Amino acid sequence: MIGMGILKGMAVTGRNFVGSYFEKERLITVQYPEERSPLPENYRNFPFLIYDTDDPEAGLRCVACKICEKECPPQCIYIVKSEDKKPDYMGKPQFYPAVFDIDISVCMSCQICVEVCPFEAIKMDKVFELSTRERFDALLQRKGELSKSNTYYHNIHPIEAAEVDAKLAEAAAKKKPTAPAAQSSAVTSPKPSPT
Ligand code: SF4
Ligand code: SF4
Repeated sequence: MIGMGILKGMAVTGRNFVGSYFEKERLITVQYPEERSPLPENYRNFPFLIYDTDDPEAGLRCVACKICEKECPPQCIYIVKSEDKKPDYMGKPQFYPAVFDIDISVCMSCQICVEVCPFEAIKMDKVFELSTRERFDALLQRKGELSKSNTYYHNIHPIEAAEVDAKLAEAAAKKKPTAPAAQSSAVTSPKPSPT
């Protein structure tokens, strides 16, 4: 019958409208900003840089390889590589970004920078309340504002962050030198005789 779909739709709307006065789960709006709906795990906005430990400078994972800068489609990342090196999270001397800026008025939240980073150093943030009174300079996020701890990353993307930690721990374990005793026993142990 013509119009049945419209009537069914209106019945659902009416049921939810009246029901929302009695059942809280039927109410799909919240009184923002006093109330906030939880954001889904995969919600993303603009990128941020991760640091380990409590030191945003010493613990910054970024080694200024510039891959993200090169791959960013709208070219909104600007990096200046350091002259000197600092130890990374595994104690290996690495360059670091002396300057790392992202123009968030240009960033399109595509996450390509995250996908291409070989060091798990850049991830997507969930912060969306970024309005400012300034029109130009405030839209440029600098290294200091972009740097956030791994604990923060765990808070906003718990599942993803746990997977990244496991991956980094596995990579670190593979790079650990084999114990000398194990090495020598591997060299001196006799080959099994053929049967
Ligand atoms: S999210 Fe996309 S547009 Fe934004 S900085 Fe990363 S690569 Fe560039
Ligand atoms: S964020 Fe990653 S890809 Fe970009 S410069 Fe740093 S280490 Fe390289």
